[in-house]
Amino acid sequence: MNKITLMGTGTSTGVPILGCKCHVCRSSDMRNKRLRASALIETSTGKKILIDVPPDIRTQLLREEVNSLDAVIITHDHADHTHGMDDLRPFGFQTGSSIPVYSAPDAAKDLRRKFRYIFERESYFKDKAILGGGIPLLDLEEVDEGEHIFAGENFQLLPMPHGHEETYAVVHGKCAYVVDCREIPEKVLTTLRDAQLEILVIDCLRLTKHSTHLHLELSLEYIRKINPRLAVLTHMGHDLEYLDLLHELKARGAKNVIPGIDGASFHYS
Ligand SMILES: [Zn+2]
Ligand SMILES: [Zn+2]
Repeated sequence: MNKITLMGTGTSTGVPILGCKCHVCRSSDMRNKRLRASALIETSTGKKILIDVPPDIRTQLLREEVNSLDAVIITHDHADHTHGMDDLRPFGFQTGSSIPVYSAPDAAKDLRRKFRYIFERESYFKDKAILGGGIPLLDLEEVDEGEHIFAGENFQLLPMPHGHEETYAVVHGKCAYVVDCREIPEKVLTTLRDAQLEILVIDCLRLTKHSTHLHLELSLEYIRKINPRLAVLTHMGHDLEYLDLLHELKARGAKNVIPGIDGASFHYS
């Protein structure tokens, strides 16, 4: 079996939000504490593939005792999905070899600009020596939508609209990870439905509509159309209180839907 672990289930600020005094941000229930969104896929062949590198990634990798990675997939280049990049540095110390980082061409352009010292290391360090602690050994590879082999495993990347850019939904086996989208295009919906998913991890920012994310009602509408065995909500903000959300899902008859919890993992074929 393959396994997906939710490294974080929070929106861009994480929950609690700095300075916020709302009842969810002050809740002592661990299920209301959400680090920034990311997921780890561990394949039946023993490969570890990380989806997104949020600012909390060091805490998340330590918590899950992840000591190596075979590949990284970037869904899109927003701060909450990529700005933990430097914290992958120790993996290079141990192996001396690079980890491939896959992203869409547009996101790769931004990543090269933000992390010149990592992704354009030859030109950046051209006339200077690397002093001190070294740099992350990561090789950026641009990948278009469609089917790919990462770490010897079949993956599908499906483009979805999100703010000024696009984000990739990631499909591996009977699992899909679908975050940061304003909507799911018809073509992507068909692919996800035909995949007969066992696990669908899906964007659900809040209760009310949002310009760049799915809100509860829209997430549930897509879940009904995709019809996975189990759907898990993620990228959640502070107006979604865990137990209230559980009751809300029950009241709406959404039997195959649960709110994600940081550290939860799910098996799939
Ligand atoms: Zn995000
Ligand atoms: Zn985003």
